[in-house]
Amino acid sequence: MRATIMYRAGDVRVENVPDAAIVHPTDALVRVTRACICGSDLWPYKDLPPTENGRRMGHEAIGVVEAVGAGVRKVKKGDFVVMPFAFSDGDCAFCHEGLQTSCVHGGFFGFSEGVGGAQAEAIRIPLADGTLFVLPVREDGALVASLLTLSDVMGTGHHAAVTARVGRGKKVAVVGDGAVGLCGVIAAKRLGAEQIILLGRHPDRIALAKEFGATDIVSGRGDEAVEHVRKLTGGFGVHSVLESVGTEPAMLTAVNITRPGGAIGRVGVPHYPGIPAWEPTFYKNITISGGPAPVRTYIAGLLPDILEGRIQAGRVFDRVIGIDEVPDGYRAMAKREAIKVMVKP
Ligand SMILES: [Zn+2]
Repeated sequence: MRATIMYRAGDVRVENVPDAAIVHPTDALVRVTRACICGSDLWPYKDLPPTENGRRMGHEAIGVVEAVGAGVRKVKKGDFVVMPFAFSDGDCAFCHEGLQTSCVHGGFFGFSEGVGGAQAEAIRIPLADGTLFVLPVREDGALVASLLTLSDVMGTGHHAAVTARVGRGKKVAVVGDGAVGLCGVIAAKRLGAEQIILLGRHPDRIALAKEFGATDIVSGRGDEAVEHVRKLTGGFGVHSVLESVGTEPAMLTAVNITRPGGAIGRVGVPHYPGIPAWEPTFYKNITISGGPAPVRTYIAGLLPDILEGRIQAGRVFDRVIGIDEVPDGYRAMAKREAIKVMVKP
């Protein structure tokens, strides 16, 4: 089968690899019908040191179950499923608490030893009963793009909003205009935010954010952005910040635009040594929360809004490519020529 392998920063190849197969009785084999490239894939694309065997890439997919191991009970051949970016047993203390990204037997696709990537024709799913969510629709329907976002970006944007304590009447800022930030706008609106300020500067993304419910746009950087947000919020800043970037300047901006007593939901993978501006976070009683989103928990709640068309997260995909064009997809996303690239293997 064809699969995506990254050998070093900037070196992504699609190669023939041994077919994915059931290894453990709790595995399922899924034929990938749609996968995609994530903003977080751009971090190794920028800084992965040379590796001899490369890293299998991709952690977002929907697909059809081709086979299950002897120990799988809930998922069956022919099911159309979402694969959350983390696998989980569904049965440990953390899974029961709805935090599958801390599952004691779990891990992350495209990172964990012996687990493949989703930018491929097929993938082995460990702990299939706990991991996979069976969809109640056909694999070829009009909703595939939005269903694919349940694998990561919509659930992650929602997690940012939940951990930033977005609620009815709140003033919200979203730092970052990538697919997760845009899904954060959807999530904030869905949870009843009164004002949603997007911090971003790409015209195509800003236009989409406005359609998703952003009420204000702040395109400056650093102190200029902080001043602008304060001006838009009566001088105090916002109740909730959804931080979807993961850099130190983005986190610093997030702290400085949070009003006293507010909260920051971090979902951008942090690439900084410590939380900046710790003193203001203390004196302003700011809650800093967030982390890898337990998207498996959120699928059931978000799905009805997708099935009934109330949210259209699939609009973040602005390019569709075949499996052999995946290296071009990485280039397009790295150059910000595409918001998010869908792969149709
Ligand atoms: Zn678990």
